[in-house]
Amino acid sequence: MHITDHINKAAGKTLFSIEILPPLKGKGIESVFNGIDPLMEFKPAFIDVTYHREEFIIRKQADGSEEKVSTKKRPGTVAICAAIMNKYKVDTVPHLICGGFNKEETENALIDLNFLGIDNVLVLRGDNVKHEKMFVPDKNGNKNALELLEQIQNLNSGKYLDDEINEATASNFCCGVAGYPEKHYEALSLDADMAFLKRKVNAGANFIVTQMFFDNTKYFNFVKRCSEEGINIPIFPGIKPLTNRKQLVGLSNIFNIEMPQDLTKAVNTAKDEDVKQIGLDWCVQQCKELKNGGVPVLHFYTMGLSEATKYIAQKVF
Ligand code: FAD
Repeated sequence: MHITDHINKAAGKTLFSIEILPPLKGKGIESVFNGIDPLMEFKPAFIDVTYHREEFIIRKQADGSEEKVSTKKRPGTVAICAAIMNKYKVDTVPHLICGGFNKEETENALIDLNFLGIDNVLVLRGDNVKHEKMFVPDKNGNKNALELLEQIQNLNSGKYLDDEINEATASNFCCGVAGYPEKHYEALSLDADMAFLKRKVNAGANFIVTQMFFDNTKYFNFVKRCSEEGINIPIFPGIKPLTNRKQLVGLSNIFNIEMPQDLTKAVNTAKDEDVKQIGLDWCVQQCKELKNGGVPVLHFYTMGLSEATKYIAQKVF
């Protein structure tokens, strides 16, 4: 079922959903299920599974020389989606990125999803690989989320890359895109970022999932701004509870977001053993306010840890 159908069916009630990561290579599917099982009582409307492109690592050879090798540390996004749908009968949203794919490979990945009955995707550009300063698309790959979205919309109209494929079966993907209440780090201004978001919406995006934020004002301002720009598709707030002191700086640096002064002060003046509870209480308040504000979904970035999400969901739903 399309994510937008879930939203329509909920008729204004705030839904619960989660994002999970594929486990590190070597771990079994049980580790995925162990992260989902404790959250099933809250009836997730859908489960997102992130995509992780290859990384380059230096490996020492027997003769002492070093070799740069490519490795995928968290493979399996599509298979995990299929396994979740099979086990829990819950819709999944695989993340699909431009980086590391040429258009042919993207088309084949979409065909796999279509055959598996997965008809939702989160359409993303992906970040640059560590040794590159900027995002570099694959030769013959999509350069940004807009181009990837256009490719999917073509497939939704039965248009494949090969012009000679006639009377092709059209796919039926419901497409989400990313939105940044505090601006994407590369965008010159919030206005410029908003203009690109608008282009993604005009190209057929069906819903927006936001980057995490710890200050609800940023989300509500973003939604207002979107509405002023004529963006009227559902905007799902991305929620991440802070669970340790290091995250105050870590999350802020990784995701280019600002931590509210009150939260920073509370964490910095607390004893180590109290920090987690401060983060959880903050998140519960955030979620209650967002729910009262009528958000369509509270979308939790579990990052493989279900305990904190469970605590918050118990207080909010
Ligand atoms: P885009 O929409 O392509 O935008 C990227 C930048 O380019 C922005 O600054 C934008 O303003 C600018 N821009 C857009 N279009 C144009 C244009 N036509 N010309 C010039 N500039 C343009 N990463 C992963 O690798 N795997 C994941 O699973 C994953 N999941 C995510 C989930 C969510 C909810 C979010 C918010 C992010 C996720 N990311 C993931 C990270 C994401 O890939 C990065 O933030 C990436 O840097 C940008 O992706 P995007 O889709 O927003 O890019």
